[in-house]
Amino acid sequence: MALNLPIKIFLFITIASFFGLIYVTNEKNEFFNNPLSGEVLGKIDYKKIQLQQIVKEKYNIDADIPIEINDEISNNLFGLASYKQNGKIVILLNKNRFKENERYMIEEVLPHEYAHAVMFIIGDFTPHNGGHPPLWERICNEIGGVKCDRFANSDDILIEKLGFKN
Ligand SMILES: [Zn+2]
Repeated sequence: MALNLPIKIFLFITIASFFGLIYVTNEKNEFFNNPLSGEVLGKIDYKKIQLQQIVKEKYNIDADIPIEINDEISNNLFGLASYKQNGKIVILLNKNRFKENERYMIEEVLPHEYAHAVMFIIGDFTPHNGGHPPLWERICNEIGGVKCDRFANSDDILIEKLGFKN
C-alpha cells in the first residue's frame, strides 16, 4: 500500500511528537525522582559559605545555618526559614523550584532566607510585614541579596517558639 506524501508527513510528525513527549515526561520524572545533582549542591554550599563569611564580617555572628533541600513544602514557596522551639534554625529550599531556575534559587532565594535566619539569631521576631521589616531588608541587602522586598507578602518564615506561623 503506497501512502501519499501528506499522509506520510502527518504520520511522521505524529510519531515524532509521541516520542518527544515520552522523552520530555521521562526527563521531568527523572528530575522529580532524584536528588539535586552534586554540581547544584556544590553551588549551594559555596553560596552558603559566602553568606556566612559576610554575616561574620558585618555582624560578627557565626551563622552556620543548615540548608535542607525539601520537596514537601508548599509548591508556591521557594524557600522557608524555620525557627524551632529548641532554638534550631533551618533554611528549607524547595527542591522542585530548582527545575525552573537554579540561579534564582541560589542567588536570590537563599540570601533572602539567610537574612531571616540572621534575624532569628539576633532575636528579632518582628511580625511586621510577614517578617520583612526594615532591619530584615537591610540585612538582606548587606549580605548581597537581590530585590530584597520581592517576597514581602509571602509566608516564608515559620516560628515555632511563638506558636504562630507568620
Ligand atoms: Zn521572607
